[in-house]
Amino acid sequence: MSIDKLSINLATVREQWDLREAAEACARHGITAIDPWRDQVAKLGLSAAVRVIRDNGLRVSGYCRGGMFTSPDAIDDNRRAIDEAAALGAECLVLVCGGLPAGSRDLVEARKRIADGLGTILPHARACKMPLAIEPLHPMYAADRACVNTLAQAIDLAQALGDGVGVAVDTYHVWWDPDLEAQIARAGRMRKILAYHISDWLVPTRDILLDRGMMGDGVIDFARIGRWIEQAGYRGYTEVEIFSKRDWWTRPGDEVLRTCIERYRSTLM
Ligand code: ZN
Repeated sequence: MSIDKLSINLATVREQWDLREAAEACARHGITAIDPWRDQVAKLGLSAAVRVIRDNGLRVSGYCRGGMFTSPDAIDDNRRAIDEAAALGAECLVLVCGGLPAGSRDLVEARKRIADGLGTILPHARACKMPLAIEPLHPMYAADRACVNTLAQAIDLAQALGDGVGVAVDTYHVWWDPDLEAQIARAGRMRKILAYHISDWLVPTRDILLDRGMMGDGVIDFARIGRWIEQAGYRGYTEVEIFSKRDWWTRPGDEVLRTCIERYRSTLM
């Protein structure tokens, strides 16, 4: 199975390598696309990051991340993220939309602020031709990271906002959803699937943030969800995104990339 459509989200090797080292390693392994994080780009400098990515012949399947609309300074920060994503030639800017503001219990208001924030940055994103990908996060993150928690909710937002806004489907966050098949199909009909991220759900999950699994080590049926994604007409990259403090971040980066490629081949078919 070809790995032409495999992308590596650089969170997966963030403890092993900086952006330059990770880009060179991906190229060495025959990987053709990456999704860098803003701190990784900032550390190298934007223009050096652009050069490193180009010199290694890599595409940028997405840029992580914007969003956090319930934080102060969100609008200016998102405009900067859009500019960076455009400079990098990213296919979309991935948005983690933000949780409850500190001290608040008003989930309804937080969700309204997210919709308002998206609407505020959208003209700039459209001017830069940078699609915004709303990523719904598992409900356990509703308080502190994102109170957009289901694919249906993300598609509703994207639909209301119109052109230039879609969704990122991340298996770790949405695998449990009884409505997943129908919502993937719905997003496909609307041509709003902008990114597909994969990592596995381990049993037990010891740390909701930093204990994501390698595909095949947990309980997610990647072949089935991948079929739904394909049937929905998505032809973009499948991006491996693994935050794994105790396991994969402790292993040599080359071993991680080799395993990503093996598991991509063995679990997605
Ligand atoms: Zn993701």
